[in-house]
Amino acid sequence: MEKIQFKAESKRLLDMMINSIYSNREIFLRELISNASDAIDKIYYKALTDDALTFDKDSYYIKIEPDKENRTLKIIDTGIGMTREELENNLGTIAKSGSLAFKNENEIKDGHDIIGQFGVGFYSAFMVSDEITVITKALGSDEAYKWKSKGADGYTIEPCEKDTVGTEIILKIKENTEDEKYDEYLEEYRLKAIIKKHSDFIRYPIKMEVTQS
Ligand code: ADP
Ligand code: MG
Repeated sequence: MEKIQFKAESKRLLDMMINSIYSNREIFLRELISNASDAIDKIYYKALTDDALTFDKDSYYIKIEPDKENRTLKIIDTGIGMTREELENNLGTIAKSGSLAFKNENEIKDGHDIIGQFGVGFYSAFMVSDEITVITKALGSDEAYKWKSKGADGYTIEPCEKDTVGTEIILKIKENTEDEKYDEYLEEYRLKAIIKKHSDFIRYPIKMEVTQS
């Protein structure tokens, strides 16, 4: 299969990807959780060869935080984080995917995983968000950065505060329209069901605080 690379400025193509080709919106959460898990894996494998680093199982987890009032959904991980350079290289280019080759070999058979094949995993979050903020601090770095984007128009990066190593993805969930409903991505029960369906195999704890009703 031919490898197809989108140009970062092909806004129309991205719009198509996130709005019409891939209608199974809920998989955005699988994509973000799998990125979080990959980021924890990276610390895990580093700890195997780096004596100065220990992997304490209990300190590594993924946390999902819906906030109906502010209409945000946070996906927090204690993974390896990103430097400023990595933010630019990894999130700055549409369809630049580190696992594209792997996915081409392994997921072709299912044929429906268009997002996986084209490597817009992270960008699938724009199916449900009109703004994405990424706050991250890389392992071994003193600096934290905030990446922000409203979609194909571009992004900004600025220094920010973050105490711990890892990444926090903050999705501003889209407003409902007459035809399209997005409220469900702020509902604990719905998020739980999506996680159970698509991320059951993740080997780190996925935490979500449940509110009393
Ligand atoms: P892929 O996971 O196939 O590489 P994605 O679009 O899902 O493609 O992610 C692009 C890249 O962004 C990842 O390869 C990784 O380097 C970086 N990234 C995304 N999310 C995180 C995260 N939570 N922590 C660290 N790095 C991340
Ligand atoms: Mg990914």
